[in-house]
Amino acid sequence: MKKIAFFCIPAHGHTNPMLPVAAELVRRGNAVRFYSFNEFEKKIRDTGAEFISCDSFLPALTKKEEAGLKKVSTTEMTIQDIRTTICMNEFLDKEFQSFQPDVVYTDAVCFWGKLNAWKHHVPMVVSTSTFAFNRMSSQYMKNSLREMAGLIFGLPRISRELKKLEPYGYQVKSVLSLVQNDNDTDSVVYTSRRFQPYAESFSDHYAFVGPSVFSKVLPAKEKERPLIYISMGTVINDRPDFYSKCIDALKDLHVDVIISCGNAVDREELGTLPENIQVHPYVDQLAVLAKADVFITHCGMNSVSESLYMAAPMVLYPQTGEQQAVARRVTEIGAGLMLKDDSSKGIRAAVQEILDNKTYGNAAAECSADFRACSGTVGAAEFIENAPR
Ligand code: UDP
Repeated sequence: MKKIAFFCIPAHGHTNPMLPVAAELVRRGNAVRFYSFNEFEKKIRDTGAEFISCDSFLPALTKKEEAGLKKVSTTEMTIQDIRTTICMNEFLDKEFQSFQPDVVYTDAVCFWGKLNAWKHHVPMVVSTSTFAFNRMSSQYMKNSLREMAGLIFGLPRISRELKKLEPYGYQVKSVLSLVQNDNDTDSVVYTSRRFQPYAESFSDHYAFVGPSVFSKVLPAKEKERPLIYISMGTVINDRPDFYSKCIDALKDLHVDVIISCGNAVDREELGTLPENIQVHPYVDQLAVLAKADVFITHCGMNSVSESLYMAAPMVLYPQTGEQQAVARRVTEIGAGLMLKDDSSKGIRAAVQEILDNKTYGNAAAECSADFRACSGTVGAAEFIENAPR
């Protein structure tokens, strides 16, 4: 039995894959203490892990900072990550002394998890909710000009903030050393070696365990009408314009449609819904994907992994550099096509192409078999229990 401290930033896409791993570690008799935020309390307690609320350590934000975070600005996220680490310093010093974890399991961009593992000399395993990125695989990222400019102009601000960590006993050379994957750090990646770009460039400190999901149910696609599922994820999903175009594109097709639109969209804005279309703020995505014949997705790593796990081919509509990388890999394995024209006409044509051309579905089914052959949450749990590798 080991004492394992979990750390994650307040984001569904980063927290979700850690949950089945926590449940498996608890099932095996380990003591798991999960440092997270109230929004995730129920999900975390349901795994059997102990939940520790960190909401009171989130720094107060100015309007400008809040807007930056909403737009997923890398600079703003990095700065808030550093400030949260400082706000949590005293609390975590005490926690490390009283809980004395044997292993830290921390999200790759959760600075307070990583920095405290280093400071307190506790073996650390990193949870990577995206592809593992090194110099080779980051070639897949096509950052937009806006993203690049934001990064370059943000660097002096980030350097100033990093310096503030030193008096607290955190040694950081550069922000890159905090966020990049290196070949000496034990890392769990929630995909297969086959799907990871340049998998051969990663050492055996990487465990490619496949998608981290609670349900192992098999896809079940038989039904009267094809099912189209649409989601832009949980972060930048305030896109009533796009949902309206999807509704217009699909209302006259012989299909059923489920749209997960998040909490920011007022469903009234979408008008009276045609009989074949449902809109919800949040759905059980894995259950919907098990039946879905096409998934129109923003290409978040979790959404794409879950879609392939459930053999659902995709219409790819990436919004960030990281999502571009995931989308590119899906097209390479033939399980989806890029939405180049996001008008109603373009959306209808893309959906129709996937429904008519079975090669997309077949490629997704092949990937599903590959994912299901990975070591999964049991593999992740063993890897964490045995750290350091
Ligand atoms: N999700 C869900 N129900 C929804 C929408 C999203 O369960 O209605 C889950 C989805 O299954 C995935 C996560 O939220 O695990 C979204 O993560 P992803 O990396 O795809 O995108 P992000 O939200 O981080 O942009």
